[in-house]
Amino acid sequence: MKAAELADAPVTQLPPVRLLTIVCCRLNARAVSTIVSDTHVTDFSVENEPILGYMPGSPERAELEAALRKHESQMADVPIMIGDKEYRTDEVRHQVMPHKHSHKLAQFYYATSELVQKAINTAMAEREKWERVPLNDKFEMWLKAADLMAGKYRQDLNATTMLGQSKTVIQAEIDSAAELIDFLRFNALYAKEGVKWQPRSPTPDVTVNKLRFRGLEGFIAAVSPFNFTAIGGNLAYTPAMMGNVVLWKPSDTAIISNYMVYKIMREVGVPGGVVSFIPADGPVFGDTITKAPQLAAINFTGSVPTFQRLWTQVGQNLSNYVNFPRLVGECGGKNYHLIHPSADATSVVNGTIRSAFEYCGQKCSACSRAYIPQSLWPQVKEGLIATQKELKVGDVKEFDSFTSAVIDEKAFKRITGYIDHAKSSPKLSIVAGGKYDMSVGYFIEPTIVETTDPHDCIMTEEIFGPVLTVYVYPDEKVDDMITVANTSTPYALTGAIFAQDEAWLAKATDALKDSAGNFYINDKSTGSVVAQQPFGGARMSGTNDKAGGLHYALKWTSPQTIKQTMVPLTQMSSIHI
Ligand code: NAD
Repeated sequence: MKAAELADAPVTQLPPVRLLTIVCCRLNARAVSTIVSDTHVTDFSVENEPILGYMPGSPERAELEAALRKHESQMADVPIMIGDKEYRTDEVRHQVMPHKHSHKLAQFYYATSELVQKAINTAMAEREKWERVPLNDKFEMWLKAADLMAGKYRQDLNATTMLGQSKTVIQAEIDSAAELIDFLRFNALYAKEGVKWQPRSPTPDVTVNKLRFRGLEGFIAAVSPFNFTAIGGNLAYTPAMMGNVVLWKPSDTAIISNYMVYKIMREVGVPGGVVSFIPADGPVFGDTITKAPQLAAINFTGSVPTFQRLWTQVGQNLSNYVNFPRLVGECGGKNYHLIHPSADATSVVNGTIRSAFEYCGQKCSACSRAYIPQSLWPQVKEGLIATQKELKVGDVKEFDSFTSAVIDEKAFKRITGYIDHAKSSPKLSIVAGGKYDMSVGYFIEPTIVETTDPHDCIMTEEIFGPVLTVYVYPDEKVDDMITVANTSTPYALTGAIFAQDEAWLAKATDALKDSAGNFYINDKSTGSVVAQQPFGGARMSGTNDKAGGLHYALKWTSPQTIKQTMVPLTQMSSIHI
């Protein structure tokens, strides 16, 4: 589009760092006026948020330490937020620090079914108003929120994520700072680009065609997991950015960081009725929203059983809904590293340790099973054991901790159950780690297990903890391992292959096409970055809607096609259709 055509378009003030050009785009700008006004979007560009180093003496480290002291020394009181009102019920719950579970960080309240219903009514009342706020204004709010998160609130977000979800500083920085900020900025960018596409109007003096990007007619339930603060922000606020009203149910074990996100979004002008913040017992929330005729979509991240339950409930209520609800779910994984005999052993060791044990293996993409050729095993085993010994498991405030505690007692028992199984099964042996202790915090050593059975439950079930199991195979069976990696679990989230043999890499990449939504070659299976590796898996790992990618934001619109004819319909048989 030429600058002259854009001269009358509004210019929105944006921080210079993002502003590629002050040129504005008027979509389908034309002389004839139409009923549906043109969509105005200010052009801007964004970059991935840099990850700060937190070196001793750095300003960010001093700020983070102050924020940690602040949030640790107080017990936050987190209300249920519906519209502009705070609610507190008799069902009081606490968020504790997983690495010191006697320490209560926050008090919060479970919403009753009646309050969830109130939030639905509030959302429906807000919907008309919010949908009419121009997209451009919404983008501005989202970009402003991202700037606040990158600036004055960065260390509050990191501190609440570290203390509440037991993330080390680097794991918090890549989640509650970088990824969250990236989601806000890139979803705004992709939405801006996406809504530029308009249908053809070959004879605009006769007929004008437009797409109006409406929000969905109803409310959206965003149900988020504990393990990424950024995911909660994305699940609730990307639909909201596209004009939807949302009920956000955070995880019990991520309350204070998620509430911080909510408050920042309010500060930049998102009205109270647009996103309600509703801590609740999962089934109470799920049962209520799936019964509501106005349910337009569920935006879920969490475990397979929870998503299956929600999907089943939607099916059971299908005849009651105004729309067919959209179901978006990112679920579990049983992610693999498949090692070819030609692989570089050092890359295998470093990549596998990081993937399996960062954040205690509580990333949905964490490597949980590895297939390693006999010829490489001595070298890789030695490297894994030596590196595992160096991993410090400790308090998140000790900046040299590699990991801290797992999230809660339920997770601790599930994970240690697999370790006990490894200790007692004749098919399994512990190569490194295996100790655990929940007397102060839910601490589990990074544990490496060797199995003689690639189909043992430890190789096929999601553990979601710091347990890596290795199957050592005879080198000549490497192609059989492709089949095992592909077919031995119901999941297809992430997977990685390591080799220097390029012909095998090509063959395995092709054969493993359906085994992972995010596939890595000579790299670990974790660490996707917004806009660089859009994320999501298929099979039982989810609906693969690729958060952090181009199409995600537009998923949350219900476009309306409008054809407007500019001339009288003078004849029965018209030359135009
Ligand atoms: P979870 O399924 O226990 O809980 C997820 C959310 O669902 C929580 O807010 C929980 O309270 C809620 N919930 C529970 N029962 C419910 C019900 N009946 N109705 C409505 N909501 C209900 O999962 P989690 O332990 O918080 O998270 C870990 C899981 O999430 C792992 O399986 C992990 O692989 C997965 N995960 C996947 C991705 C991905 O992108 N694929 C990302 C992060 C986490």
